[in-house]
Amino acid sequence: MDAARLVPAYVALGSNLDNPRIQVGRAIGALGTLPATRCVLRSSLYRSPPFGPVDQPEFVNAVAGLLTELEPASMLAALQDLEVRLGRAKPVVRWGPRRIDLDLLVHGATRIDTDRLRLPHPGIAERAFVLVPLAEIAPDLEVPGVGRVRALLARVNTAGVERLAA
Ligand code: ADP
Ligand code: MG
Repeated sequence: MDAARLVPAYVALGSNLDNPRIQVGRAIGALGTLPATRCVLRSSLYRSPPFGPVDQPEFVNAVAGLLTELEPASMLAALQDLEVRLGRAKPVVRWGPRRIDLDLLVHGATRIDTDRLRLPHPGIAERAFVLVPLAEIAPDLEVPGVGRVRALLARVNTAGVERLAA
């Protein structure tokens, strides 16, 4: 890998099906196998209450910090490919239960707003289950156009997001 081309990227992981702790742990391990990418930071696992309109089990969430040569679109494609390899079923109800969800939170300074890819991920500022693990590994990260992680975290209600014992 060419160190000069490495960009920091952050990925949110979530699961609430089929032993979520195992699913998230397996997905974090698999992030390190993405092409031209190293996984350099991983948060603890957290449990968080389900959100959205569907009645469903609680989630396990985590965030990983990567260094990558992949462009944002290639990184998204690689994450979606990984979701399929990790057994994410095809037709999933929006915000319904899923075995694994991999969201690209931040990719360097990139700001994009298309249906296929939004960066930074639009849910960051309001999601405690993203901000708590992100703040564990990157409290001083400036989310482009949104704010510093530490400051964003101070503005959300983190009740219900609990660190799981290792
Ligand atoms: P969600 O994560 O919102 O629960 P999905 O994982 O099914 O739902 O993703 C829905 C769509 O979000 C995907 O088709 C993907 O192209 C799009 N998308 C847009 N921006 C991003 C991003 N930053 N990370 C991941 N997916 C994204
Ligand atoms: Mg997703």
